[in-house]
Amino acid sequence: TEVKPYANEPFTNFALEENKQALQAAIAKVKSELGRNYPLTIGGNKIETEAKITSINPGNIDEVVGSVSKADQQLAEQAMQAALATFETWKKVPARERAEYLFQAAKLMRERKHEFSALMMVESGKNYVEADVDTAEAIDFLEFYAREAIRLSKVDQTLPLTKIPGEDNKVTYIPLGVGVIIPPWNFPLAICVGMTAAAVVSGNTVLLKPASTTPVIAHKFMALMEEVGLPAGVINFIPGSGAEVGDYLTTHPKTRFISFTGSKEVGLRINKLAADTVPGQIWIKRVIAEMGGKDGIVVDETADLEAAAAAIVASAFGFQGQKCSAGSRAIIVESVYDQVAERVVELTKLLQVGPQEENFAAGPVIDKTSYERILNYIEVGKQEGTLLVGGDKAEGNGYYIQPTVFGDVSGKARIMQEEIFGPVLALAKAKDWQEAIAMYNDTEFGLTGSYFSTDEARIAEALETVHCGNLYINRKCTGALVGVHPFGGFNMSGTDSKAGGYDYLLLFTQAKLTSRKM
Ligand code: NAP
Repeated sequence: TEVKPYANEPFTNFALEENKQALQAAIAKVKSELGRNYPLTIGGNKIETEAKITSINPGNIDEVVGSVSKADQQLAEQAMQAALATFETWKKVPARERAEYLFQAAKLMRERKHEFSALMMVESGKNYVEADVDTAEAIDFLEFYAREAIRLSKVDQTLPLTKIPGEDNKVTYIPLGVGVIIPPWNFPLAICVGMTAAAVVSGNTVLLKPASTTPVIAHKFMALMEEVGLPAGVINFIPGSGAEVGDYLTTHPKTRFISFTGSKEVGLRINKLAADTVPGQIWIKRVIAEMGGKDGIVVDETADLEAAAAAIVASAFGFQGQKCSAGSRAIIVESVYDQVAERVVELTKLLQVGPQEENFAAGPVIDKTSYERILNYIEVGKQEGTLLVGGDKAEGNGYYIQPTVFGDVSGKARIMQEEIFGPVLALAKAKDWQEAIAMYNDTEFGLTGSYFSTDEARIAEALETVHCGNLYINRKCTGALVGVHPFGGFNMSGTDSKAGGYDYLLLFTQAKLTSRKM
């Protein structure tokens, strides 16, 4: 069957009553199914363990979303053996056939999109739009990587190798082997789906270890792949402690690659552990590590200041600032600083805090550890800048924090340098646009950034000098779309793998050249 050209999944318009009701019905359905048990899946076998990960609703911490069985090292080893055995058959399945499982999964996910979004809302604290966008991105990844696998499988016909007489030369991209997939909780569906789908559609088999705060939505994805008939053992679902199961698999001699998205600390640890060769290992492990950010928005005095302020607030506080792309700092040229800061504060005050299920603009943060870390950073901010709005926890039976803005923060301040991963924004002044860009670049990270200006010459220079993987002009620094804005960062933000782009599947394959004498 013919494959239609790729197009992004549209977002749901919740201004329409019928869409709102459909999502609310899905939330009610999810609520009626809370507290269930979810097993591991190893080689197609469901395994219940005594030890469990309890997933709770961060917006109502008495509500248990589900209990998920928990792999230990022994079960991780079983999963490795299942994945190794399955690789021998899966690697031979034609790309078109592998892609078909992703197309089928995308189709079902689209039909049930509100169910996925509703579960994500309850488990991760996303409001309507944030959850809907996450589900749309998951569908996009399935559709996009399926097409990419088909394209790569035909590269031997399209790659323009230099011809020489008497030889037939071809490059093909073959899979690597068994990979360990370690996603974060903040895009608990999209990133989990994208990382897993890319690896398996390329012909690898995987061990999927979801983030411990969002294992139930990851299980729902696993169940979907089973429903579409993905052969047993291609994805082995092994929730467990990152430290225990993660380290075990990172150092395992049969692990061929590790695809990780999460914090800098864990990414660097994986990179280091994976670099050591262990007995029985016959390859250099490949590490794909997408890590944190200290993203920001630069505003000069020629900019549309209203648009800049709106973008600063949207980038800082969408999903409570818990995006790797979150704009947690803004650097503003001093002649317009007061005007922008004032507008940022006004817009921030409009963000009401409350339960995500009631679609408040500012929902809870993910868990107690995050909550305490963020509140601690707010105390640091009170030493480092002027508190303009927020600055405290907020009411509710969950991890609610007021959207917080600090003004007059110096470029070297901790809240300008360290990833907070919460609803905290730092504003800094620069004497001119060049100094503002220099301050933007003065970070160990380099994921997303925005430059607001109407001066063409400055924009041209900014396009070259602002050093980050995803640079936007006159728009917010969050909201990358699959296929449109391939996503990944520089420096300590990671390996710049460009998820949702045309280079991504190459990371899960190796190129084989065959040369035949004619
Ligand atoms: P995290 O704490 O690093 O956890 C990410 C994943 O790593 C989780 O599945 C975690 O498992 C696992 N893990 C923990 N220790 C491990 C170890 N020793 N070995 C192997 N795996 C281990 O990050 P997070 O809090 O989930 O996510 C937030 C971070 O992700 C932020 O820094 C954010 O910027 C970054 N992020 C980056 C991107 C990007 O594309 N660059 C996208 C999204 C998020 P447990 O849950 O069991 O600990």
